[in-house]
Amino acid sequence: RSFNFCAGPAALPTEVLEQAQQEMLDYQGSGMSIMEMSHRGKMVVDISETAKQDLKDLLSVSDDYEIIYMQGGATAQFSMIPLNLLGKNNKADFVNTGIWSQKAIQEASRYADVSIAATTESSGFTRAPEQGEINVRDDAVYLHYTPNETIGGVEFSYIPESPVPLVADMSSNILSRPLDVSRYGLIYAGAQKNIGPSGLVWVIVRKDLLDQAMETTPSIMSYALTAKNASMLNTPPSFSVYMCGLVFKWLKTQGGVAAMGEINERKAARLYNFIDQSEFFANPVAKDSRSLMNVPFTLRNSDLDKQFLAEAEAVGLRNLAGHRSVGGMRASIYNAVPERAVDALIQFMADFEKQHG
Ligand code: PLP
Repeated sequence: RSFNFCAGPAALPTEVLEQAQQEMLDYQGSGMSIMEMSHRGKMVVDISETAKQDLKDLLSVSDDYEIIYMQGGATAQFSMIPLNLLGKNNKADFVNTGIWSQKAIQEASRYADVSIAATTESSGFTRAPEQGEINVRDDAVYLHYTPNETIGGVEFSYIPESPVPLVADMSSNILSRPLDVSRYGLIYAGAQKNIGPSGLVWVIVRKDLLDQAMETTPSIMSYALTAKNASMLNTPPSFSVYMCGLVFKWLKTQGGVAAMGEINERKAARLYNFIDQSEFFANPVAKDSRSLMNVPFTLRNSDLDKQFLAEAEAVGLRNLAGHRSVGGMRASIYNAVPERAVDALIQFMADFEKQHG
């Protein structure tokens, strides 16, 4: 298979895809695919409950939290969070570190009195703010931030202290290393980077936050109703949940998030070290804010971008183009991207530099 550096939908572990392929026509002797089964039946309920439990185990989530899954990806959460949390007071504070923060802010502004607690815009969004720069209103209902900006490649190296519940969009860094969930009010993550198929979003929400929804919140968007109905308020995306469940099992066999964290640190360090010693490639992000998952880089001569991408594709290094809004290159090196893919990329970059540098 190709080495897939796509930012999302992203690479999935080959073993997971092979297992899904084997079970596609006949899931565990049932004579049918999961997609053909009733979600009220034992098999689908087991898949759903096991996936939730495995995520709970992987992140050591306490019983103070509900784990639910919903649809509409992370973008739908940009609306669901204010709808579910701003029932009594509509003040929501945001840290702005780039494009995904801005999308969350824009959508929340439909419902919320938004205040920007910190912004790194003056740096061109090339760093995370320091704790001292984050000013949260005492009467805000929550503080939202994006721990990993997928497009800018900027990741927080710390969890911000907040006087109000902390809400985090972990779409692109969930399960990439150990996490202290107890520091958060709510964590959400679109599945298509480190977990599974797109369209599904995982939400880990502290139970005491479940009773403050706006009255107009649609049932299907309500965290409380979703939790109460075990994420099966309507027909759930069973096949996607099954795929996520396979990835959770795979992560467990790899040694969980502690082992993934070590591998991810090694992968990222190798790539950043190579870029830093090169005079041909560059990464603009402050060293203490560099993402473990998304490594943007530019070529000294951007006229060579197209050639770089074409030659990379030709040797099976796929999807290295930067986001359409920023250009350049980006290597997304999520959990399912093996270390040898990063080594192959570095070798290719070194050869390209030798030829054109
Ligand atoms: N938030 C972050 C940090 C992302 O990287 C993405 C990427 O797709 C999204 C939100 C949007 O997710 P979705 O496409 O699932 O709505």
